Amino acid sequence: MDKNSDFIVEKRIERTIEALKKNKMNGYLVQDEKELIEKIEEIVNEGSSVAVGGSMTLFETGIIDYLRSGKYTFFDRYKEGLTKEEIKEVFRKSFSADAYFGSSNAVTEDGELYNVDGNGNRVAAMLYGPDKVIVVVGFNKIVKDLEAAIERNREMSAPANAKRLNKATPCVKVGYCMDCSSDDRICSEYTLIRKQFDKNRIHVIIVNKSLGY
Ligand code: SF4
Repeated sequence: MDKNSDFIVEKRIERTIEALKKNKMNGYLVQDEKELIEKIEEIVNEGSSVAVGGSMTLFETGIIDYLRSGKYTFFDRYKEGLTKEEIKEVFRKSFSADAYFGSSNAVTEDGELYNVDGNGNRVAAMLYGPDKVIVVVGFNKIVKDLEAAIERNREMSAPANAKRLNKATPCVKVGYCMDCSSDDRICSEYTLIRKQFDKNRIHVIIVNKSLGY
């Protein structure tokens, strides 16, 4: 990016962090993965129990490997060889984790988190359960408002995830949401986090790069 487009993104991030604060959530800007880990270490104490929601961003930024490093008690849904029942057990245990990590399908400049899930385990834990929720996003997830968040999900997040998961849904063919009635549909629970009671619960860390979808 050149200096002028950097400036536009910087201002967008500033507005978003300010709006999150008004909604009793914390927003931070970090430049890279090193700063991301430093920020996480400020927020989540060593020895805490941690869990994750499905997220490409957490893989791309190396956070999954970091959580496996032994610093935390990691309820690891991605551990090799887990049965379906064991994964379900991890999902349920995740509600009692000290900190829950994930990304967001969109973050609005009004300071809201918009997410669509298929299974619901991720959005459920974001809404209630873990004492802290750490949301890691690239600047590409920031959108103007709720309308743009819904559009972003229909035009990018949901079709890209359906493609990643090899679903037999129409969006995988045309590249945008067709509000299908396919048995393979991955869009079930639509959530908007607009405000928190506890201002120390949700922490949105914006990494100054494009990540995930
Ligand atoms: S509702 Fe169906 S078509 Fe739309 S994004 Fe979800 S899976 Fe794809």
